[in-house]
Amino acid sequence: MQSKKNIVILATTNPGKAREIRASLGSRPLSILTLADLGIRTSYPEKGTTFEQNARGKSLFYSQKSEFLTLAEDSGLAVEGLGGAPGIYSARFSGPRATDEKNIQKVLRLMKNAPQQERRAQFICCLVLSQRGRVIKKVTGRVRGTIAFEKKGERGFGYDPIFYYHPFRKTFGELTPLEKTRVSHRGRALAEMKRFLSAYLKNHPA
Ligand code: IMP
Repeated sequence: MQSKKNIVILATTNPGKAREIRASLGSRPLSILTLADLGIRTSYPEKGTTFEQNARGKSLFYSQKSEFLTLAEDSGLAVEGLGGAPGIYSARFSGPRATDEKNIQKVLRLMKNAPQQERRAQFICCLVLSQRGRVIKKVTGRVRGTIAFEKKGERGFGYDPIFYYHPFRKTFGELTPLEKTRVSHRGRALAEMKRFLSAYLKNHPA
């Protein structure tokens, strides 16, 4: 039977993120449950001004709703020529009825004639692990690329089809899930969190 201490509650409702987090962390001895699995329906109103503040707030908030380890993440795209936008507003960049497609079109429109220097961008992912209202570990992962001139690739989610990753000469939308995890902001942050968790669980027997 699964030990309770190895259960991690995933405090996200974004299916793209949840898929990637499960793929990285969801193997023995860890078991990943979602807020929905615990019947938690309260939503957390994000009010931070940085990825870290938002991830921390979310993690602490949901960690008080159960006894389990709780992992929250906040992530987004920061474009140099847009002064770091969309940043923490990545999900809602095109307004209250935003979709991935509308967000992508807005970035492409704003970057239409921008030179290469201004097209530089990075994805940032901040993960915060908490339990019972106490932060246990925080990690941040980043990956650098440039904003492409048009969409390419059908994979991934969010801005992946316009994020060009030079070492692979492909957009993130063209990468397999495994390729993306190896180099992405979330993949890097998750690898560090996974190393931390395995040491932490060894040192904190049930
Ligand atoms: P939030 O963290 O739920 O506020 O939203 C993060 C948003 O950033 C997502 O909805 C995407 O638009 C964008 N984003 C974060 N990570 C990725 C990624 O790995 N690929 C593409 N877009 C991402």
